[in-house]
Amino acid sequence: MSLTTPDIRSRNVLKRMKPYSPGKPIWEVQRELGLERVVKLASNENPLGPSPKAVEAISELLMDIHRYPDAQAVDLRAAIAGRYELESEQIIITNGGDELITLVSEAFIEAGDEIIVPSPSFSEYEFGGQLMGAAIRTIALTEDYQYDVSAILEAVSERTKILYLCSPNNPTGTILTQSALTELLNALPPTVLVMLDSAYCHYVTEDDYSDGIEFVKAGYPVIVLQTFSKVYGLAGLRVGFGAASQSIIRAILQVKEPFNVNALALAAAAAAIADVDHVQRSSQLVKEERLRLYLEFEELGLPYTPSMSNFILVELDEDAEHHYVELMRKGVIVRYGAAWGLPRHVRISIGTPEENTTLLHALRAILQENPELS
Ligand SMILES: *Cc1c(COP(=O)(O)O)cnc(C)c1O
Repeated sequence: MSLTTPDIRSRNVLKRMKPYSPGKPIWEVQRELGLERVVKLASNENPLGPSPKAVEAISELLMDIHRYPDAQAVDLRAAIAGRYELESEQIIITNGGDELITLVSEAFIEAGDEIIVPSPSFSEYEFGGQLMGAAIRTIALTEDYQYDVSAILEAVSERTKILYLCSPNNPTGTILTQSALTELLNALPPTVLVMLDSAYCHYVTEDDYSDGIEFVKAGYPVIVLQTFSKVYGLAGLRVGFGAASQSIIRAILQVKEPFNVNALALAAAAAAIADVDHVQRSSQLVKEERLRLYLEFEELGLPYTPSMSNFILVELDEDAEHHYVELMRKGVIVRYGAAWGLPRHVRISIGTPEENTTLLHALRAILQENPELS
């Protein structure tokens, strides 16, 4: 039996594309290391779980899953439009925020166009660009991981098609302030589409911040990315949305598969966005535990980047990969920073108070075994 078919050639761009490296799932660590209790602080999920109202909406729908979902997602779009005071025609529902990035790439990028992406940041922006044959212009954040507006503006050329901004930025937790965003948007040529990824907006406490929606309302060429995977606790269902002008949404709809989001996800998302209590509890937990973790990291002598999100970027040392593995052996999964070019760092999602205590115990034990760290 031959396992290869060497005459069948895939597209050349695929050779340059790196596969996404997700956080290790709990079951894999349990199986590989024979551990019973594993705490996952690696994918910025909601540690409180899904909204109970979303779970109820799903169970009510289970006997109807022989039917195709609503291709237009009418109810969910109306719920989102109502929540943000936009028109339904300004909303597109996607299979996670990830699918929105791919769809935007397919709808707007011609081979040879340029996209501008911050670095370090979410890798899917580059993925979409590479898939469509774009040239990727990477703009480094400053030394303390802030956006450098003038460096971004200098990178803009007549070939620039999309500028990606992630605020709060994954993996640094830093934001682009509302004032800097305003300055940037006013200075950009009108032909540049700005994708503002505010997947983590619910965790921001800084006043000088915008999730981008106001700029959509004001008519700027901005598309806002939102997801139900983070504060809404529905990562396993795969649902997110984009908000932009009607004409931008119309172009993206042209490349969307009709049934891209399943029926259970649509129903759960509509229930979750209405469950204001669950969102409030979830973001409050993060805000409190974030402050507690700062204090504990300071006590442990670990440098960290102050975060406006539900994760914290923590600097270990040149053995960070080893410490990441040691943490895993103790049943705590975090994300190692090498994929972002941060080989001394780990990104730690903020869990429940109990989960964070487990993390801190494990960190303390590792620091005692490796006294040179602190
Ligand atoms: C999680 C995340 C998303 C969206 O994730 P989905 O699960 O695909 O909805 C988008 N942007 C950033 C920066 C993220 O961290």
